[in-house]
Amino acid sequence: MTRSVPMLDLAHQHRAVETLVAEGFARVMAASSYILGPEVDAFEREFAAFCGVPHVVGVGNGTDAIELALRAAGVGRGDSVVIPANTFVATAEAVVRAGASVVLADCGDDYLLDVDDLRMRLNPRVRAVVAVHLYGQTADVDGIRAVAGPGVVVVEDAAQSQGAKYRGRRSGSLGDVAGTSFYPGKNLGAYGDAGAVSTGSAEIAERVRALRNHGGLHKYEHLEVGTNSRLDSLQAVVLSAKLSLLDGWNAERRRLAHRYTARLEELPGVATPIVRPGNEPVWHQYVVRVPERDRVLAALTEAGIGAGIHYPTPVHLLPAFAPLDNPRGSFPVAEAAADHILSLPIYPGLADSDQDYVIETLATALRPSGVLR
Ligand SMILES: *Cc1c(COP(=O)(O)O)cnc(C)c1O
Repeated sequence: MTRSVPMLDLAHQHRAVETLVAEGFARVMAASSYILGPEVDAFEREFAAFCGVPHVVGVGNGTDAIELALRAAGVGRGDSVVIPANTFVATAEAVVRAGASVVLADCGDDYLLDVDDLRMRLNPRVRAVVAVHLYGQTADVDGIRAVAGPGVVVVEDAAQSQGAKYRGRRSGSLGDVAGTSFYPGKNLGAYGDAGAVSTGSAEIAERVRALRNHGGLHKYEHLEVGTNSRLDSLQAVVLSAKLSLLDGWNAERRRLAHRYTARLEELPGVATPIVRPGNEPVWHQYVVRVPERDRVLAALTEAGIGAGIHYPTPVHLLPAFAPLDNPRGSFPVAEAAADHILSLPIYPGLADSDQDYVIETLATALRPSGVLR
């Protein structure tokens, strides 16, 4: 009898919204209206209220959301944009796609952009900083703003942080503009690709509305070269249904995270996540640092546990970003993290008994007697 604990259980989420989704899909099909439309308008309003911002614009995916957020904020050719070295590659791609140059900065021991390191990377060409709320914990947006100064746009990469709070404010409302992703595995996930831009600025929102739809707000109006990155009605139905349950799901992730921390901080060699004061993470990932990470990961995999590494290679060491010319050693904290981090299963629907199995398997793998030499 082999036991298995997946990395994520999307079927559990689907069961909770099945009826709402079926009714919504029937509505969309009856109206034969598949792109944008009333379902998208409704979701944009609901997600804006959730984030505490006046404007949300639904787009095709999270990478486009960040690119269009940058472009709409006036960032482009000739500009530099600082992002953390430890992020999903999409953050860097969005900067390049916007026409700007990537400048990397190191992270701190909480895996979030290190404000002191950011200070050293600033130069007159830096027009924006992307604050990546990695693993569901918000970056220090106020600190970033203070260091970067008033001329620099603060863009949030909120792909992993729907519902997270920073000093009482929600992810997506903390910077000048934010891009988020509703890739199926995110805390708020669609049934395909989807994303959104949120902002307090009517001007930025209006420009994203045009950019996502071939550069215009009306048919055959093309004010600038935009793209096709519209949210579709079926995804909006799923997102509205799941949004109504998101706070509960995030509370469940929080409960599981506290359970992990209580047990794992007693294990020698394990570093549990550091949460900055004022932060309420939503635990998109629960990431520990362990010695002999690859061996420990192999032991978990062998035991049927869906653990992972987010991310195994920092941006500057990816072949695609070799032209940045940041050799190994450029971002020591991010590089050391990449060698030792391990993401454990965390999701609404993870049974306590399955979580206990993960904890016990990890404890055994870490015990010297459990090591095969
Ligand atoms: C998922 C993700 C993105 C990109 O979102 P897509 O919808 O996959 O394009 C960007 N940044 C981070 C940190 C992500 O986790």
